[in-house]
Amino acid sequence: LFSELPEAPLDPILGLNQQFLADPSPNKINLGVGAYRTEEGKPLILNCVKKAEEIVDNSGKFNKEYLPIDGPADFYNASQKTLFGDTVATHGDKFVSVQALSGTGALRIGMEFVKKFFPKDTTVYISDPTWPNHKNICTAAGVPWKNYRYYSRQKNALDMAGLLEDISAAPDRSIILLHVCAHNPTGMDPTPDQWNDIANLIQKKNHIPFFDCAYQGFASGDLDRDAEPLKDFVRRGFELFVAQSFAKNFGLYGERVGTLTVVTAQTQTVKALRSQLKSIIRANYSSPPAHGAYVTQVVLTDEKLLREWKEELKGMAGRILDMRVKLYEALKQRGIHWEHVMKQIGMFSYTGLNPEQVQILIQKHHIYLTGDGRISLAGLSTRTVPILADAIVDALTL
Ligand code: PMP
Repeated sequence: LFSELPEAPLDPILGLNQQFLADPSPNKINLGVGAYRTEEGKPLILNCVKKAEEIVDNSGKFNKEYLPIDGPADFYNASQKTLFGDTVATHGDKFVSVQALSGTGALRIGMEFVKKFFPKDTTVYISDPTWPNHKNICTAAGVPWKNYRYYSRQKNALDMAGLLEDISAAPDRSIILLHVCAHNPTGMDPTPDQWNDIANLIQKKNHIPFFDCAYQGFASGDLDRDAEPLKDFVRRGFELFVAQSFAKNFGLYGERVGTLTVVTAQTQTVKALRSQLKSIIRANYSSPPAHGAYVTQVVLTDEKLLREWKEELKGMAGRILDMRVKLYEALKQRGIHWEHVMKQIGMFSYTGLNPEQVQILIQKHHIYLTGDGRISLAGLSTRTVPILADAIVDALTL
């Protein structure tokens, strides 16, 4: 039955991780996966999460019963507050949020909704480059996608003219996938003025924004500030989608915690929207996992834990920024002036290394990064920055 079955291609990021694990070198460094690491290179469980886990386990308020199809209301309402801030008070009656299997699950439920209820040829426009799974998710949901220009590799800068041209050329009522902050992989976000131009154009074209919010808190260290572009779209009265992930900012990667929110223009559509989202979820996995959602809910609804989370998040964002500065300085000392590294924000740096140079880093120096030259700064430490800088000099001069 399966003798002719071809192997699926390795995922570019998760495949790289397998390659890293198989490398016997004691000096190997993993800058491929976008997961936070401590200065010692270890995964981090936040203190606020440990405390919340105790409450979930011992308070007697939680159990292992099935969750509602759309998750606990206390969870998704608190998540809304984190994402939408003060716009909950002004526009919250038009928000429909459901728990999702982290950011990926939220994107998938959203795209299935698009497939089911939008006109047949509705196309999703995705930044070039983007997180590679965006394309997989659209394809799997049966939604056509195309790229819009986002980044100039020649200039190591945002290609704003290309972006506006492509979004303008897209048929009216297309879906425009936007990263709320800390764009993956480029680390290059639009300025507030550029966001304004993007919003004006999307409004003029009657496009529907679909925001992906996977790194809230990692751009500026401040949750509220990082979500500002999204809140601006809400204040303007857009109907939109948002996929929210708590994987990175809560360090809850494997717990798969997130939400999907649909913002509608009319409160009377809220009930139908929720029912349709639930029907898509029911056929996918029936109901979401409880533990991570409860932990997140406990932190988000407890003033002290919430404050502690924000501090810990600032700490993670701060260490990543420190690595960015140290890498920039180390390269400068070696005669390489990579100004773009300092202009980028968030967890990544899009180095500009070409595929051959990337292979030199991997094969010769055992430093793993994605084929497009993206490095996760969170994988660096004070000890490994000079090792990376030396390897970059080697790759650039060979
Ligand atoms: N969007 C972007 C841009 C991402 O980088 C990621 C994670 N790498 C996700 C969404 C989804 O991640 P998760 O499903 O783990 O929340």
